[in-house]
Amino acid sequence: MSDINYKYYWLGEKWTDSILENVVYVQSIDDIPTELGGMICLNFVDNQKIEESLKAFYKQTNRWSWCVFVTKETPYSQCVTDGIFNEQQSLDTWYNVQNHIQIMLRHDSLDPLIGWLGVNRQRRLKALKSLESMSIYSYPIIEVLLPELYSTYRYVLSEQSRGIIEAEKLIDRIRVCSHCNSGHLNYVEVCPYCSSIDIDSQSSLHCFTCGHVGDQQSFQRRGKIECPKCLTQLRHIGVDYDRPLENHICNSCSSLFVEAATTSQCLSCDEKIKVEELAVRKIFQFKLGEVGEYVYQHGKSIQAPELSIKGKVDIGFFQNLIAWLNKVALRHGEQHLLLGLHLPSLDEYGKQYGDSKLFSLMDQLTLRLSSMFRDTDICCQYKQDVLLVLMPNTTHSSLSVLQQKLSELSDLIEDDEFELSVFSWNLPDPAIEDSITLWLEALVDETYAAR
Ligand SMILES: [Zn+2]
Ligand SMILES: [Zn+2]
Ligand SMILES: [Zn+2]
Repeated sequence: MSDINYKYYWLGEKWTDSILENVVYVQSIDDIPTELGGMICLNFVDNQKIEESLKAFYKQTNRWSWCVFVTKETPYSQCVTDGIFNEQQSLDTWYNVQNHIQIMLRHDSLDPLIGWLGVNRQRRLKALKSLESMSIYSYPIIEVLLPELYSTYRYVLSEQSRGIIEAEKLIDRIRVCSHCNSGHLNYVEVCPYCSSIDIDSQSSLHCFTCGHVGDQQSFQRRGKIECPKCLTQLRHIGVDYDRPLENHICNSCSSLFVEAATTSQCLSCDEKIKVEELAVRKIFQFKLGEVGEYVYQHGKSIQAPELSIKGKVDIGFFQNLIAWLNKVALRHGEQHLLLGLHLPSLDEYGKQYGDSKLFSLMDQLTLRLSSMFRDTDICCQYKQDVLLVLMPNTTHSSLSVLQQKLSELSDLIEDDEFELSVFSWNLPDPAIEDSITLWLEALVDETYAAR
C-alpha cells in the first residue's frame, strides 16, 4: 500500500495547535507525489501566497482527486478547496473521497471537472468575483483543471445544457458588452433626442398667459414671480402658471424632457451600446448534474459537445429550408452554395483526449467559423462531425476563396491531429424534389466515403 493512502501533506508553517499524526511536512509543491487521492493542507497567512500555491498545485496531474484544505480561507480558496482544516473533519472527508476513488471504474479518461465534483459531493462549482478580470466573474476550479479553455463562461453554459452540471443557486445577474464581453460598463443618462451627455435637471415654470416655459430662476423678479416674456405677474399655481413635467434640459439641443434616456459605454473597448442591447449573464453556483453523474459512474459521455455557431438551426428546419430554397432557386434562376465541413478526427479526438479537450477544440472552431460566415449563412450540425453551411446567393466561383479561408482556419487550430475536409454542392438540384432527407443523407455519405 502506498504512503499516500494514510499520510497527508502539509505545506507552509507547521501546525502548532496540536500534534498531527501521519503528516508529512514539505517545502514545495513539487515534493508532493502526483498519485490519485491524496490530501494536502496549506498553511499560509498571505492571501496572495495561498492563491499562487493553489494554482501551482492544480497544474499537476490527478489533483482533481485530492482533498485540499487551508488554514485560512480566501475568496479564491473557497472556490477550489474543501475548506478550513480541522483534523477530524478533514480526515473524514478524505477517507470518504478515498472510498469513492477505490470503486471508480476508470479514472484515466475521466473529465477532471466531473471527477472533482464526483468524488466529494459537498463540492460546488463556485464563481469568483474579481474586478481585475474583464468578465468580472470566473470559475477558478475550471480555470485550473481545464487550463486550455478560452472561456469558462461558455464552457459552463455548454456543460449545463448537456446536463453535466446543474444550476443550484443564482449568484448574480450582470450585463456585459456585446462587443468584447467586458463587464466593466458605465451607465450614463443622455438626452433622448440627440443622445448628448450634457444634460441638466432644472425646475421650470410654465406661464399660462403666453405659454413660455423657462428656468424658475428667470421668473424671479423683485421677490415676485413674473413671466420674463410677457411680464405678467404669476400669483396662483394652477391658475396663472404651473410646473411642467419636463424637468430636464439638454445643453446641446435645448430640448426639455421628462426622463433622460440611459446608454452604456464599455470601459474596456469604448463601444457605446444601448442598455437593452447589452448581453445579460446569469451567474450560477453549480453542482454535478444528472448526465455528469452518469459520466462519473460509467466513465464515458452520452453525447458529444456541439458547435455553437451563430445562425445555427436544427436539422428539421434546415431540411425544410433547403427544400424551399431549392424551389425558389429553380423558379428564379438563383445560385446558392451548400458547404459541407467534415471534421474527420473529431470522434477519435474525443475518445483519445477526453471531453474537455474536445470542447476546447470545438470552442476554437466555433470562434473561428463564426467569424468566417456571413449573418445570412445558415449552419446546421448535421452529424457530430459534419457541419453543413447554406450560403445563399453564392456561386461556385467564390469557392476557391472560401477554401483558402478554411484551410487557413484549419492551420490556426492549435492541434496537429486536426484535419478539416471541405465539400460543396450547388443549388438548385432538381433531385431534391424527390426527398430532401435522402438527398442530404447521400451528401453526408459522400463526405464519409472520401475519408
Ligand atoms: Zn439633446
Ligand atoms: Zn408669459
Ligand atoms: Zn466592450
